[in-house]
Amino acid sequence: MTQVRTAMIIGSGIAGSVAALALRRAGIEPTVFEAYDRPPDDVGGELMLAPNGIDALGVVGVGDDLHRLGSPIRRTVMTDGRGRQFGEFEHLPDLPPSRAIRRADLQRLLRERAEAAGVRYVYGRRVVAATDTPDGITASFADGSSATADVLIGADGIRSTVRRLIDPSAPKARYTGMLGFGGAVQAPQVSEPGVMHLANGHDGFFGHWIGSDGGVNWFSNITSDKPIAMSEARRVSPDLWLNRLRRVHARDVPAREVLDRAEPQDVFPFGAIEILPPLPMWYRGRMVLVGDAAHAPSPVSGQGASLASESAVQLARCLRDLPGAQAAFAAYERMRRPRVEKIAADAARANQAKAPGPVASTLMRLLAPVARRTVLKPERMFGPVHRHRIDWDLRVTTT
Ligand SMILES: Cc1cc2nc3c(=O)[nH]c(=O)nc-3n(C[C@H](O)[C@H](O)[C@H](O)COP(=O)(O)OP(=O)(O)OC[C@H]3O[C@@H](n4cnc5c(N)ncnc54)[C@H](O)[C@@H]3O)c2cc1C
Repeated sequence: MTQVRTAMIIGSGIAGSVAALALRRAGIEPTVFEAYDRPPDDVGGELMLAPNGIDALGVVGVGDDLHRLGSPIRRTVMTDGRGRQFGEFEHLPDLPPSRAIRRADLQRLLRERAEAAGVRYVYGRRVVAATDTPDGITASFADGSSATADVLIGADGIRSTVRRLIDPSAPKARYTGMLGFGGAVQAPQVSEPGVMHLANGHDGFFGHWIGSDGGVNWFSNITSDKPIAMSEARRVSPDLWLNRLRRVHARDVPAREVLDRAEPQDVFPFGAIEILPPLPMWYRGRMVLVGDAAHAPSPVSGQGASLASESAVQLARCLRDLPGAQAAFAAYERMRRPRVEKIAADAARANQAKAPGPVASTLMRLLAPVARRTVLKPERMFGPVHRHRIDWDLRVTTT
C-alpha cells in the first residue's frame, strides 16, 4: 500500500475533530462525516481534561484555549455521604492542572479550528456500510450517498457502527448498572475553586466542583436495573429526574443542598453509563477505530476525552511516518492498546466502589488512613496516567 493521502473520519465528537486536526498537521486530507444534521454541540455538562489530554490537545494547537475556557482543578477531596472526609490528594504539582471544561465549548473549539485549517465537515451522514477495495474505501450513508478515501477512521463513539463493520462479533458496550446526570447551580459556598469533591453517598455517587462560569457543577451516578439511553432519558420530564435524584441523595451532604438549589431545566441526563470491554480487533483493511469507538473507560477514570485525544494524535503520527495503512494501524494499536486497557481495567475496579452500600462505606472510611499512607499516593495514583507526553516530531518506526 502507498502512503495514505486522504481520510474519512466518521463522527465529529472530540476524537473525530482531534484526529482531523492531527491528520491535517501530518499532511493528510481528512473529511468528517457526522450523523447529526448539525454540529452536535448541545451535549451538556463539563468534563475533566487531565494533564495527558491537555498535552495531546496542545499538539493540535488548542492548548492556550483550554486555559481560557477551562477552570483548573488541583485537588480531589473524597467524603462519605455524611460529609466526612476520608481522602484528599493534591494533583501532581509539577504538571499543569486538570481542567474542567464544558463539553460543548471543547467540541466547538476543535471543530472551528479544524474548519479554519481547511477540514470539511459533512452533516446528516450516518455511515451504514463500507466496502474495502485495493485502491480505497467507500463508505455508504443512510441517506443513500457515498464517499471514498484512502482510509476510514471510526470516531463514532461507544456504540460505534464502524466497530461492527470491522468485526461483526466485536463485544458491545456493557451497562454498569448506573445512570449518569449532570448540572450546574449557583451555590459556591459548598465548594472552593480548584477542588473536585467526590462523595460515596448512601445510595449514589456525587461529585461537584466550581465550574468555568463560577457556578457549582455537579454529577450524580445512581443505580438502576434498567439501562436508559441518553435520547430516551432526555424525553423524560426533568422534574421527574430531579425528584428522583433528590430522593436518592436525601441523606447525602452536600448533594442534597446542591440538588435543593437545582432547577429542572438545568438537569442533564447522560443516560446509561457504559464501558467497553477490550476489543479483539482495532482495525481491518482500511478501517480503524479511535476514541470511545476503540476504548471507552468508565467515566470514573476521568480519562475518556483525554485518551481519545491521545489516540487521535498517535494515529496521525503513525499514518504520517509509516508506508501504508496496514503498517500504520498495526503500529498505532501496538502503541495504544496496553495503555488504554490498563487504565480501563483500573477504572472498572474503581467503578464497583461507587455505590458501595453501608457496610462497604464504613469499611472504606476505616481503611482510608492506612490506604492514604500506602496505595493512595498521588504519584502512584496519577503519575503513570497523567505524565504521558507525545513527541510529535519523533518518527514512528515499525518496531
Ligand atoms: C457521564 C459521562 C461523563 C464523562 N466525563 C468525562 C470526564 O470528566 N473526562 C473525560 O476525559 N471523559 C469523560 N467522559 C468520556 C468522554 O465524554 C468520551 O470519552 C469522549 O467524549 C469520547 O469522544 P468520541 O469522539 O470518541 O465519541 P462521541 O463524543 O460519542 O462522538 C461520536 C460522534 O459520532 C457520531 N456518530 C455516531 N454514529 C455515527 C454514524 N454511524 N455515522 C456518523 N456519525 C456517527 C455521533 O453523533 C457523535 O457526534 C464522560 C462520559 C460520560 C458518559
